[in-house]
Amino acid sequence: LTEVLEHEQDLPSETPDGHAMALMVNTGLAVDAVASLKPRIGGVGLYRTEVPFMITERFPGEQEQTRLYREQLESFAPLPVVMRTLDIGGDKDLPYFPIDEANPFLGWRGIRVTLDHPEVLMVQLRAMLRASQDLDNLQILLPMITNVDEVDDALRLLDRARAELAEEGVAVPRPRVGVMIEVPATLYQLGALAERVDFFSVGSNDLTQYLLAVDRNNPRVADLYDACHPAVLVALARLAEEAAALGMPTSVCGELAGDPAGALLLMGMGFEVLSMNAPSLPRVRAAIRRVPLADAQALVAETLRLGSPAEVRGLLNRRLEAWQ
Ligand code: PEP
Ligand code: MG
Repeated sequence: LTEVLEHEQDLPSETPDGHAMALMVNTGLAVDAVASLKPRIGGVGLYRTEVPFMITERFPGEQEQTRLYREQLESFAPLPVVMRTLDIGGDKDLPYFPIDEANPFLGWRGIRVTLDHPEVLMVQLRAMLRASQDLDNLQILLPMITNVDEVDDALRLLDRARAELAEEGVAVPRPRVGVMIEVPATLYQLGALAERVDFFSVGSNDLTQYLLAVDRNNPRVADLYDACHPAVLVALARLAEEAAALGMPTSVCGELAGDPAGALLLMGMGFEVLSMNAPSLPRVRAAIRRVPLADAQALVAETLRLGSPAEVRGLLNRRLEAWQ
């Protein structure tokens, strides 16, 4: 089977009835290994900038960050690279920036940290913009957005960074900017968010954690953590519908997108862009190539009628087997 999947990797990620899906990769380190996938993907759907920050001894300076980001952008140009601003806090601590809190996942995390430390965000934004010079494939993604003021503040800083660079003789166009849909509150503010940004990216890992109130890393409650919980699926299906009505390009970059059954559900809901870790690509592509869009849509309808995560998993497993 592995051989078959490998052979399929150069074929389009398209359903038997001709519905094309865009598959993208999530990156952090090891740009070389992933850049070889370039002919088979639509770009980088999520570059987690905190990953390189975790292996340094202090915050990397503007020059060092520019070099890192340039490497990503150049490796994949002209394909888009979605760079997420620093998402530390929660489970991701930097040794040189310890955060000690009783409830880290509900605490100082992502955009909350970087807006409280605009000097950190400014260096990062300047480096991203600098790195994008003459390439034009940078997109910027804001993590852990809870309300629109955070978006406005971040956009102001982005404009300031661009103005500063212009004064220094580095003129770069305004990149497309998106927000992570991962705090449940954003599900109810899609219209206001859509007025401010160019795209949504769904973080199904955190959306699941916060909708179910289950710490994604706590083994004691690991049984309860399931992105196929009916509540999560209903939320995702409504989100796909509302985002489409708003005309907002919306991708999914959480683990659900890299799970073949999850990818089929997302496709059936109407998401057209899925971003995943590179090793998940072959199986997801193979699933898409075997299942007509109408069948995926019917599967979503059937799934949404089920009451428990176990029932959903049972149905998905039976269908996946039948489709192999
Ligand atoms: C997510 O929350 O689904 C996501 C993609 O971001 P991270 O896993 O880095 O929190
Ligand atoms: Mg997240």
